[in-house]
Amino acid sequence: MVRRVVIVGGGTAGWMTATYLQATLRDKVSITLVESDRVPTVGVGEATFSTIRGFFQTVGLAEQDWMPACNATYKLAIRFENWREPGHHFYHPFERLRVADGFTLAEWWQRYGGGERFDQECFLISALCDAKRSPRFLDGRLFEDAVPDGEEGPATLSEQVTQFPYAYHFDAALLAGHLMRLGTGRGVTRVVDDVLATRLDERGWISHVVTREHGDLHGDLFIDCTGFRGMLINQALGEPFVSYARELPNDRAVALRVPSDVEREGIRPYTTATAMDAGWIWTIPLYGRLGMGYVYASDHASPEEAERTLRDFAGPAARDLEANHIRMRIGRNRNSWVGNCVAIGLSSGFVEPLESTGIFFIQHGIEQLVKHFPAGGHDDGLRRDYNRLIARCMDGVREFLFFHYYGAARADTPYWKAAKTRDLPDGFAERLASFERRLPDTENIWPHYHGFEPYSWTSMLLGLGGLTPAPRPVLDLLEPAGARREFAELRRRAEWLAAELPSQYEYFTARH
Ligand code: FAD
Repeated sequence: MVRRVVIVGGGTAGWMTATYLQATLRDKVSITLVESDRVPTVGVGEATFSTIRGFFQTVGLAEQDWMPACNATYKLAIRFENWREPGHHFYHPFERLRVADGFTLAEWWQRYGGGERFDQECFLISALCDAKRSPRFLDGRLFEDAVPDGEEGPATLSEQVTQFPYAYHFDAALLAGHLMRLGTGRGVTRVVDDVLATRLDERGWISHVVTREHGDLHGDLFIDCTGFRGMLINQALGEPFVSYARELPNDRAVALRVPSDVEREGIRPYTTATAMDAGWIWTIPLYGRLGMGYVYASDHASPEEAERTLRDFAGPAARDLEANHIRMRIGRNRNSWVGNCVAIGLSSGFVEPLESTGIFFIQHGIEQLVKHFPAGGHDDGLRRDYNRLIARCMDGVREFLFFHYYGAARADTPYWKAAKTRDLPDGFAERLASFERRLPDTENIWPHYHGFEPYSWTSMLLGLGGLTPAPRPVLDLLEPAGARREFAELRRRAEWLAAELPSQYEYFTARH
């Protein structure tokens, strides 16, 4: 029987795991979390993916309960700057493509769209990003549910299966503290101490961890949330790590926390990823500050060069701020669940922050852990299924991120030139070749769940500009009137919403 869960590590992964397990398994299991006050958390990880909403729903936190306390803002998209050429940008929004007469607007745009900006013509959210709008009205209504006076129903969206249109930006340290208070308030036992050693039983499973001041902590299931060090899964159990360095060479980052004057500058409702000579810089707008970081390959830039580049980019507001230099372990464990130990968070795997998947992987890991929870006793089959799902999800994201560099038109520095000649991930050549004949769909993208849907692949393919997919030949024979109506309706609705919705600044200032 598995009834005692011990979580080692109190970063985002540790506290998300503790609160989620507590919310789903309640008093059927006991949860102890041990965290060191000497080993710092990684200190970044502030942009999320749209599934995150499901996490907050499960743990029972409404937006008003946690967002103001964590200086959180809405994220509608990622804005990619300079990936094609200097000055160019496009959005990758949380928005599925509308369909007209059986073909997506992106397919119609390729054949009949006149404009330069496919993202503006095919996605409503691009206009909200340009206008720095909040996705909610001041009364809390979501933009998708709103219609102009005198109209019925939310335009054509009612016929589309929509994707939830936003994720969040938040202060990672404030959120971990918030979740810690929530978890301990609901019965999670918190131990502040250093784990000094992990003891194994005769099977080679973990029997207990040894702490400096609180003695031995015994459990039936141990969750390794110790970050890149993988103290339990890699150090104690010796599980091998499968590196993605061949496909994703960025192995370092340098980060700054830059104060921002939200009243003057507003709050952008998107993360920005700006391509640089040896990597890219993230800009994450929180209420009152910007998270900024340069993710780069150490083969192409030194830490000093990277920090200089980031400071130049951030401008005078970053003067005198301390920079956080981080080495990244890119890849995943061969297995994230070994014996009675499950790794969640950076100890399980990480693919660099492009597309903000670190916290998404945490959430996916916890959700699958609950689905595969060995309530009746440890079970090889449950463990095998779990490991297969986790590995496929991360390998799929590896392929998606590889495609960002490979598919970008930018090829002006040794770093960007190398991205075009790197070996493709196994199996990707065939999928990539099919993108020349038809835009990504469920049949030609990575075939397992990895969070990204065909519209995401399409956004990147058309936005990055390095590949030139041909329109579907059959569209020459089809009447585009239905698609033209849909394009016009989308534009009309985007203009109305951009005019009616409050700005992010107005929305959150009303709540602070
Ligand atoms: P950590 O934050 O490293 O926490 C480890 C915990 O283990 C700490 O509490 C520490 O005290 C404890 N610990 C370690 N050793 C011991 C010991 N011996 N005894 C007791 N306790 C111990 N994700 C996103 O979703 N979006 C992003 O925008 C994003 N950006 C990122 C940018 C960078 C540069 C990096 C590196 C990561 C980013 N991530 C992002 C990933 C995200 O930061 C992590 O997934 C998230 O913070 C979870 O980290 P963690 O809890 O696994 O590890």
